[in-house]
Amino acid sequence: MLHYSCDACKRPIEAASGGRHVVKIEVFPAIEDGPCPCDGDHDDADHLEDVQDLLERIDEGDIEDLEEATRSLRFDLCDDCRRRFVKNPLGVRVGKKFGFSNN
Ligand SMILES: [Zn+2]
Repeated sequence: MLHYSCDACKRPIEAASGGRHVVKIEVFPAIEDGPCPCDGDHDDADHLEDVQDLLERIDEGDIEDLEEATRSLRFDLCDDCRRRFVKNPLGVRVGKKFGFSNN
């Protein structure tokens, strides 16, 4: 039988206490799908050329930058850590909860 441990607190995850939760995080550069920033008329042919260009760049291995900027992360969390994660996915320190006093 497989045993999992929590990637956050390192404790073994027991099914009895809420079970295992999987967190998947995808990081990738946003590709803006808005209007083209350059002026001039664009028709479908231009977009096809763009795709062609992209495919050529992938062939040439020129696309490694994109690969570098793209990450897919996966974590196993116990129920406690899942709850904490959902409340504060980026681990941003907020308020007094984390031991900072505001007075
Ligand atoms: Zn945990």
